[in-house]
Amino acid sequence: MPSVQQLGDLYLIDTEHVGRLKTVGVFLLPAADGRFALIETGSAVSLPILEAGIQQAGFAPEALAAILVTHIHLDHAGAAGVLARRYGAEVYVHQVGAPHLADPSRLIASAERIYGPDMARLWGEVVAVPETQLRALAGGERLRILGHELRVLYTPGHASHHVCFLFEGALFTGDAAAIKLPGSPVIRPATPPPEVDLERWEASLDALLAVAPERLLLTHFGAVSEPQEHLLAVKERNRLWAEAILAGLQAGEDDAALIRRITALGEAELRAAGAPPELIALHSETSSYPMTVVGLKRYWLKHHPERLS
Ligand SMILES: [Zn+2]
Repeated sequence: MPSVQQLGDLYLIDTEHVGRLKTVGVFLLPAADGRFALIETGSAVSLPILEAGIQQAGFAPEALAAILVTHIHLDHAGAAGVLARRYGAEVYVHQVGAPHLADPSRLIASAERIYGPDMARLWGEVVAVPETQLRALAGGERLRILGHELRVLYTPGHASHHVCFLFEGALFTGDAAAIKLPGSPVIRPATPPPEVDLERWEASLDALLAVAPERLLLTHFGAVSEPQEHLLAVKERNRLWAEAILAGLQAGEDDAALIRRITALGEAELRAAGAPPELIALHSETSSYPMTVVGLKRYWLKHHPERLS
């Protein structure tokens, strides 16, 4: 039985992504009439666990009416196509991401470049969302969904098409507020390729601070009760890791050396905060060091080539 946590009116379903507990969450927002919306879908490989979680929360999967995704990465929207086809749900996504859900071929190709032979095991089969069910967002909307109002905030930085959703003081942050696993003492940057942009990300964090949420709901993973402190810490942590990669690049380090550098930094932080070895290992899977290097290196090369000379 998957773990399902009630958070006020909402439920947090643990999709147990590839057997890792409490790393990839999906939020269920109920309506008064038994229908419900999902915020995020998790990956396609986690679908059976997600559907069991929906039932455990007391809902029939057939009552799924709407899906809102913060961005199209496969841990957030990988199951959107299957769910949309199976239950006819509408899918809300930023307008830049929408074409890639309608035709996921480029999304799949890019994931295959990153994950290679692990693609199927990690992400399963990604299928297209029918175009008639797609609802493209620009940011700034106040959506009426199942009798609820959700505000859409455009929050680029992790990805150029990232949005957050604000529902009655609860802010669904996707990856904009980074990763904070339950029981972990540290906030971990989420800076994979290919679109990390720290300046836009910082502006997004300022926009999130400005709406003064009461709590954050992180896809990775769960509720954070001190939003201001957390959002400010994300800004600082992103900068710290990015500066470490910049220092390596300026020293002429190759990718292997950069990976050693960022692994040493990440593991030292965890050890200093008292994390046990299994948590240190889990963090190396959920925010992979090689991927962090590719993402941040690309950021510096693309946006600040002058800093590398
Ligand atoms: Zn993610």
